[in-house]
Amino acid sequence: MKLSVVVPLLNEQDNLVPLYEHVSAVLRDLGADYEFIFVDDGSTDESAARIAALHARDPRVKLLSFSRNFGHQTALSAGLDHATGDGVISMDADLQHPPDVIPQLVARWREGYDIVYTVRQSTDDVGLARRLVSGAFYRVFRWLSRLDLPANTADFRLLDRKVVLALRTLRERTRFLRGLNPWDGYRSIGVP
Ligand code: UDP
Ligand code: MG
Repeated sequence: MKLSVVVPLLNEQDNLVPLYEHVSAVLRDLGADYEFIFVDDGSTDESAARIAALHARDPRVKLLSFSRNFGHQTALSAGLDHATGDGVISMDADLQHPPDVIPQLVARWREGYDIVYTVRQSTDDVGLARRLVSGAFYRVFRWLSRLDLPANTADFRLLDRKVVLALRTLRERTRFLRGLNPWDGYRSIGVP
């Protein structure tokens, strides 16, 4: 079993080594073969150099480097296009997605779920305005698309390789990856 960890990033120089170390330790404990695909979405800080230094130490670290900033969903899409794992985990670089949840994602995947997404347990740190806008967005999305898109999820999830291959055939230019998952028909489950 091989896992790919896809990490889109913009100016995250100080978070990359802590993220790499924490996730590597979790994956080693799982006994998994793995790779990191960092997608540098036009950083102007030392992010790309830090990733190159990690690659020199550990060839499982790979870097895709954009010519300019194209946005988080485009960076995530590029990472999914290059991932070679049987399971592909996407997570942010800013340490807001706890690596210690990864074993639960893998356990649910091994039970047979093709999409294992995470559900935020607390939004106390998010302002009222953002919570209202976010709630409205999910209601409108569900109504227009007739898809059962779960709320309070993040772009921190595990996708089986077959889901990643399905996503590669969908070539929207303005993508909302989270919204494509309830559409693709695969078996999914949330993890808190
Ligand atoms: N990010 C990116 N391109 C951008 C903006 C953000 O690749 O144009 C990365 C960022 O470094 C982080 C992830 O995408 O790893 C999520 O971004 P952010 O933390 O700003 O989103 P939020 O936490 O507000 O959802
Ligand atoms: Mg963030």
